Amino acid sequence: MRVGLGVDVHAFAAAEDGRKLVLGGVDIPFDRGLLGHSDADVLAHAVTDALLGAAGLEDIGHYFPDTDARWRDADSIGLLREVRRIVGGSWEVANVDAVVMCERPKIRDHRDAMRKNLAGALEVDFSRVSVRGTTTERLGFTGRGEGIAAQAVCLLQER
Ligand SMILES: [Zn+2]
Repeated sequence: MRVGLGVDVHAFAAAEDGRKLVLGGVDIPFDRGLLGHSDADVLAHAVTDALLGAAGLEDIGHYFPDTDARWRDADSIGLLREVRRIVGGSWEVANVDAVVMCERPKIRDHRDAMRKNLAGALEVDFSRVSVRGTTTERLGFTGRGEGIAAQAVCLLQER
């Protein structure tokens, strides 16, 4: 077995930028989206880096550099699906546990939809993917509403 850790942070765009907020592949109704070259799906990126870390591979920026126009506004669930393919069939995803840190929006209302999207990309049953939200008690950049952070662990089991 091998475990990997993924950490990601994206800043909120200004409301007038009109960016969508996408978390775990779910379009969330909110007044601001996150800044990023891709769709800035901070949760999908943390899960992707956890998977890559568990497999002993390079980080997400190595495979999908933000200097490459191909990945502009990319669907990060699609990138996760591609990374699952790169990791290969000799490794099975035992489970993923992810935490999204923000004051708003409330993650609870959307977490099952996020789990479904992430599990689909990872080709595992929904029950193997956990997503939780937490606030940081109004402390730090997430507490001030400047951005969203996500952390994930991924356990791989050799088939
Ligand atoms: Zn990211």
